[in-house]
Amino acid sequence: MSKPKIGMTEAGDAGWDLSWFEKLTKYDYDGAILITKSVSRPEFMEKVLELNGDIPFVIHSTITGWGGSIMEPMVPTPEKAVNAVRTLIDKGIAANRFVLRIDPIYPTTEGIEKAQNVIRLAKEIIPDVTRIRVSIYDDYPESRAEICRRGLPPIDDNDKPKKELDRRPTPDQVKMVAEALMEAAGEGQRFECCAEPELAKAYPGKFFWFGCLSERDCDIMDIEVPEGTGINGQQRYGCRCLMLKQELLSHKRRCPNNCAYCYWGSNK
Ligand code: SF4
Repeated sequence: MSKPKIGMTEAGDAGWDLSWFEKLTKYDYDGAILITKSVSRPEFMEKVLELNGDIPFVIHSTITGWGGSIMEPMVPTPEKAVNAVRTLIDKGIAANRFVLRIDPIYPTTEGIEKAQNVIRLAKEIIPDVTRIRVSIYDDYPESRAEICRRGLPPIDDNDKPKKELDRRPTPDQVKMVAEALMEAAGEGQRFECCAEPELAKAYPGKFFWFGCLSERDCDIMDIEVPEGTGINGQQRYGCRCLMLKQELLSHKRRCPNNCAYCYWGSNK
């Protein structure tokens, strides 16, 4: 069996950088995971509606609750984003092609409340989207510096650069986030976690450690995963993505969303 080719948009935002569309339609892709905080951009909505039915895809609609604030100035408000998902479903994209992605959750009282509000809003407007995927903020020095520069509080008092494992959420942060999410979502909701073993280990049966491209996504897209397919080709901490993915985005830099915590660093 030949290895399927699945595109991913991890290097920026698929709502602003639409280069994925041409690649998917030209270069024989079997499927795609489109990750965006800008699901409501008309250009993005137009492209996914055009693609629907031709190439299978799953959209990760990332809504942290900070859209439109100094943390994510150009990201749509949660209301606008959730309503855009509703519109896309109503226009014919199956609800199981969407994942509500809350990433990152900033583990302060304010950040956690925003994540809870996103869940409550989604339950009301898009109850047919049942997958929720979460990740807790990683305290990279560049992210922390930009967050503070914008007048937002850092997540702790430790201003020293942190090593990989020290950037991970503390047990207290994991507990605060997990309990708040479960409370907002109600009994029965399961959560998928990105490179986030801490949540899955502390709350087995509620939080599941899946890659952004998992067997579940392949099932939804009706793509058969060849036996022996490995995970984490990039050797990234905690990553569980199947080794079938190929980056689709061309503009590998901070996108116009201008998030304070952007992993591409500050443009200033
Ligand atoms: S500004 Fe950075 S973190 Fe925010 S959506 Fe764009 S690429 Fe992602």
